[in-house]
Amino acid sequence: MDFEFSAEQRMLRDSIRSAYSRDIMPIQRAYPQDRPLPKAAFLKIQQAVAPLGFYGARVPLELGGSGLDHVSWGMFYEEFPPVLSTGLLACEATTTRLARGSSAVVRERFLPGLLDGRLIGASGTSEPNVGSDPRGVETRAVPAGDGHYAISGRKLWTSNGSICDVLMAVVRLESPGGASSLARVAVERAASPFEAREVAVIGLQQGHLSEVVFDNCVVPAENLLGSGDDAAQVLQATWLAQRPAFGLMGVHLCRAALDASVRYAKERVQFGKTIAHFQLVQGLVAEMYTLTLASRLLAYQALALLDRGIVCHAEASAAKMMGTESAVKVTRLAMQLHGSMGLTVEAGLERLHRDACMLPLPEGTTQIQQLIIGRELLGVRAFR
Ligand SMILES: Cc1cc2nc3c(=O)[nH]c(=O)nc-3n(C[C@H](O)[C@H](O)[C@H](O)COP(=O)(O)OP(=O)(O)OC[C@H]3O[C@@H](n4cnc5c(N)ncnc54)[C@H](O)[C@@H]3O)c2cc1C
Repeated sequence: MDFEFSAEQRMLRDSIRSAYSRDIMPIQRAYPQDRPLPKAAFLKIQQAVAPLGFYGARVPLELGGSGLDHVSWGMFYEEFPPVLSTGLLACEATTTRLARGSSAVVRERFLPGLLDGRLIGASGTSEPNVGSDPRGVETRAVPAGDGHYAISGRKLWTSNGSICDVLMAVVRLESPGGASSLARVAVERAASPFEAREVAVIGLQQGHLSEVVFDNCVVPAENLLGSGDDAAQVLQATWLAQRPAFGLMGVHLCRAALDASVRYAKERVQFGKTIAHFQLVQGLVAEMYTLTLASRLLAYQALALLDRGIVCHAEASAAKMMGTESAVKVTRLAMQLHGSMGLTVEAGLERLHRDACMLPLPEGTTQIQQLIIGRELLGVRAFR
C-alpha cells in the first residue's frame, strides 16, 4: 500500500493549485458569491482548467483524451471549491458520456470544443417526477420525420443547464411500433433551442442548477448516442468515478472548516486562555480531523481501485456517503466551535455549510449509496 501521491501527481497538484489561485479565484471573486456566474466567466474558468487535461481524463486517448489516471483526476475535486467543481464535473461527465458510443459526426462536432473548454456541457436525467429512480424518465423523443426526433418534457436540477452549449438528455425514445426505451441524445442549444432557468437554492450559489424545458425541440437523428438503450449502463459506469469525486468535494469543505477552526481555537480567549486549551474543544477538532482524513482516504482508495480496473460499487458509494455527509457535519461543528461568530456571514462558515448540504443529493442520495453498499454486501437489491 502506498498512501503518497507519485512525483508526477504532486506536480499536477501544484499546477492545479496555481491555476486556481492565479487564474480562477480572481474570476470567481469578481462576481457576487450568491448569484450564478455569467457564462463568459465560467468559460474563462473552463479554459484555465482544460490545459491540465481535466476534460479528457476519462476519454480514450484516440479520441483526444489526456490519459490522466483517476487519482490525478480526483485531485481537482479536492483542490477546487465545490461551487466550481460541480459545474466542471457536469461538463467533464458530459464529455465522457458523449465519447461513449456516439457516431463520428457527433464526436467531431462536440468533443474538440468540450475537451478544450470552449463548450459547456450538461447532462440531464432528473425531472420533476424522476429523481432516485432514473428508469421513470418521462421526457419523450418521438420520430419527427426527415431524419429528426422531437423532444418534449422537463428536466430539473441540471447542472450547467442554463449556460450549456450541449446537453446530453436522457429521454424515453418512442419507436413507431409503440415500444419505448431509455436513450441518450445530444441537444445542441444553438441548433435546437430550449428554455432554461436557474433554480434558487441554499448553496453552491455561483453554480447553475437549472430547470430545462423541451417543447417539441427538434434534433437530428444522428444526435442519438450509443446503441439505443445503453443510457442506464453509461450513467452507471460514469457515476462509479463521480461518487468518490463528490466525496473529495466534501473533503475540500471539511479542510476549509477544519483549518478555520484550528486558527480560531488558537486565537479566541475565554476563561483566561485560548479555547484550544479546553478538552471539549479539542474533542471537536479531533472529530473534524478524523472525519476529514477518513473521507479523503476512502475517496482516493476508490479512485485507485478504478485505476487498477476494479469495479468497486461499494467502495465508491462509501466514499461518496462518507465525504459528503462528513462535510455537512464538519462544517456544522466548525460553526459551533466559532460560537456566535460561526453564524455570521463574515466568517464564511455558514456558506461552507450551505454548500455542504448540496452534496449528499447528486449521483445518488445518501440513502441510495446505503442501498448500493447493502446490495454489494448482502446480495439483495432493496431499491423497491
Ligand atoms: C448540486 C446538485 C447537482 C445536481 N446535478 C444534476 C445533474 O447535473 N443532472 C441531473 O439529472 N440531476 C442532477 N441533480 C439531481 C439529483 O441527481 C437528484 O436530486 C437526486 O437523484 C435525488 O432525486 P430527488 O431530489 O428527486 O429525490 P427523490 O428521489 O424524490 O428522494 C427523496 C428522498 O427519498 C429518499 N429515497 C428515494 N428512493 C429511496 C429508496 N428506494 N430507499 C430509501 N430512500 C429513498 C431519498 O434518499 C431522499 O431522501 C443534482 C442535484 C444537486 C443537489
